[in-house]
Amino acid sequence: MTHVFHRHCHSNLPTAATGDGPYIIDTQGKRYLDGSSGAAVSSLGHNHPAIISAIKKQLQSIPYAHSGFFTSEPAEELAQWLTDKAPGDLNRVYYTSGGSEAVEAALKMARQYFLEQGESQRQYFIARRQSYHGNTLGALAVGGNQWRRQQFDPLLSPVQHIAPCYSYRDQRTDETEAEYGLRIANELEQALLTTGPEKVLAFIAEPVVGATSGAVPAVPGYLKRVREICDQYGILLILDEVMCGMGRTGSLFACEQDDVVPDIITVAKGLGAGYQPIGAVLVREQLYQAFAQGSGFFQHGHTYMAHPTACAAALAVQHTIEQDQLLSRVRKLNKQITGNLNEMFNEHPYVGDIRGRGLLLGIELVADRETKQPLPAGSNIHQLIKQCAMQRGLMCYPMAGTIDGKQGHHILLAPPFILTNTQADELTDKLQLSLQDAFQELDK
Ligand code: PMP
Repeated sequence: MTHVFHRHCHSNLPTAATGDGPYIIDTQGKRYLDGSSGAAVSSLGHNHPAIISAIKKQLQSIPYAHSGFFTSEPAEELAQWLTDKAPGDLNRVYYTSGGSEAVEAALKMARQYFLEQGESQRQYFIARRQSYHGNTLGALAVGGNQWRRQQFDPLLSPVQHIAPCYSYRDQRTDETEAEYGLRIANELEQALLTTGPEKVLAFIAEPVVGATSGAVPAVPGYLKRVREICDQYGILLILDEVMCGMGRTGSLFACEQDDVVPDIITVAKGLGAGYQPIGAVLVREQLYQAFAQGSGFFQHGHTYMAHPTACAAALAVQHTIEQDQLLSRVRKLNKQITGNLNEMFNEHPYVGDIRGRGLLLGIELVADRETKQPLPAGSNIHQLIKQCAMQRGLMCYPMAGTIDGKQGHHILLAPPFILTNTQADELTDKLQLSLQDAFQELDK
């Protein structure tokens, strides 16, 4: 994604004017089908009347009240709703304004949790390569995306990064998926033994890797083994579901499909679905009790946390997803879209892998399907695909990541849950044309 300063210095970007379900319409009247929900955010599209009316209602009662003085009805109702639905005893909610803030809070929570128990020697996190947890300094330190980290490296606290679970690239031909999952999960144990488990706070990972590798789900059994190792060595497990949570993979939390309960889950994006900025950290009861019975206070906080209008929007989003049974819609759309993609691209010379869960889907682009050789680093194909797709009236999220130190390219698809079947076909048709345009340009 291009991240811009504003003041008309990026005049090449169209100006968004209105929304119509899964479409954004610019000031020239051109319609763009949102095939990626921005960056996996807008799960209800762009003008959902129920959410807009919930926001208006909240603005007319109390738009904002500082959380140090008041709680609010939407903040409490949303926390109740989230904890009723969350797996295990993830019973407490700490609100933030977005994903990076949620990750920062989770990291600090892990540190203070152990301090409450007199374990001040614990100060390290273990995370994975090819992961993204946010752009603030703590979240960037646990993230394993070299391109995002490199300029800021001297400012980042030391973190051991182990292998991601990336079967397309790393599973050996002589091992089963289950054996692969076990082998890779066991790298966590090795890392713990290298650092000394008594010095480690937590392991953090995305159950389905989003922004860095293009929708890479862990293989079955991987997260279960990770949970076992965390328990055996007494460290916390933080699952970052900022992108893959809140229904995106077809279950409310992605980790439900792995049958694992982490100690902390971070969510954002799909929580407020872009109608308001909001994130949350869900915490197990035992962690909360350490704070409640210890200092009684988590040494953290932001001005806009538990923002009543943001909570009201998120509550309306989640109620709508539930009432309209959109999680089953996500699972059905997965079948249609992956079916289309497989038909269109199974033999495409530059498509190496089609993967993902629910409506978090990835296409990995390669120079050679047999050897899985990535496309040339300098090709900037991701930018070209984005450009061609925007010309065709499609938003998708192509990225360049690193694979074994080399650049690799992926396209992330993460459309709104409200897509009709016709719109799902429009998405894949437009993507096919956009790829044709981009590769014609590349082959010139
Ligand atoms: N964690 C994950 C897994 C993410 O995908 C992102 C955003 N792409 C973040 C954290 C950071 O969220 P935000 O951009 O809302 O700060």
